[in-house]
Amino acid sequence: MSVQYRIDGRVPVVFSDFDGTITERDVIIMIMEAFAPPEWEDIVDRLLNRRTITIKEAVTTLFRLIPGSKRAEIERFVLENVRLRPGFPDFLDFCRAHGIPFLVVSGGVRFFIEPVLKPYWDKLQLFCNTSDFLPDRIELSFPYPGDDCEPCGQCACCKLGIMARYPQEVYYHIAVGDSLTDLAMSRRADWTFARSKLIDYTREENIPVTPFETFFEIQQHLSDRLVKETHHA
Ligand code: MG
Ligand code: ZN
Repeated sequence: MSVQYRIDGRVPVVFSDFDGTITERDVIIMIMEAFAPPEWEDIVDRLLNRRTITIKEAVTTLFRLIPGSKRAEIERFVLENVRLRPGFPDFLDFCRAHGIPFLVVSGGVRFFIEPVLKPYWDKLQLFCNTSDFLPDRIELSFPYPGDDCEPCGQCACCKLGIMARYPQEVYYHIAVGDSLTDLAMSRRADWTFARSKLIDYTREENIPVTPFETFFEIQQHLSDRLVKETHHA
């Protein structure tokens, strides 16, 4: 006998953003505030408010503002200052107990995400950008460019590309995010949990979302909708 949990007859899978979603604050912004010259603010404004550059252009130019020699200092700063959103560890346990894959899909960079998620490594999968540390800059590389990145506006780590690995006939897509980089996921997901600026971006396009502040709320919503199926071999 095996037990499986379904929503709308499909296997739920969670695609979660990292910066400002799993973490309380956007870690890229925290790093820029602490380590980059003031130009970073204009780049972020062009991305999020004026919307005149792509996500890939923004993240590439932002990290070029910081010398690679700062690596150890940044890693220490991240571990000391980054706070996880309440309910995150419990939600990972909940997902595992219900056979729900939890994927972190992030436009951030592995060198600062991995140390933060290390304690939960066996409960999630991480898809993000990588980096080289050159004396004068941090140069990013993009292992997950996606085949169909157009709709998300060149996101670098293509969240739609990761979603496409889980066909929607079989999998029920749950997106969790906080900002512009999650808008494309929100358009395609079956259910989107949104906070902060993502609520505004999705409202402009009439995309229905469930607002959240902690992972406890998401867990509650999912446990209300999960259907237990028992299969007799
Ligand atoms: Mg974010
Ligand atoms: Zn994309």
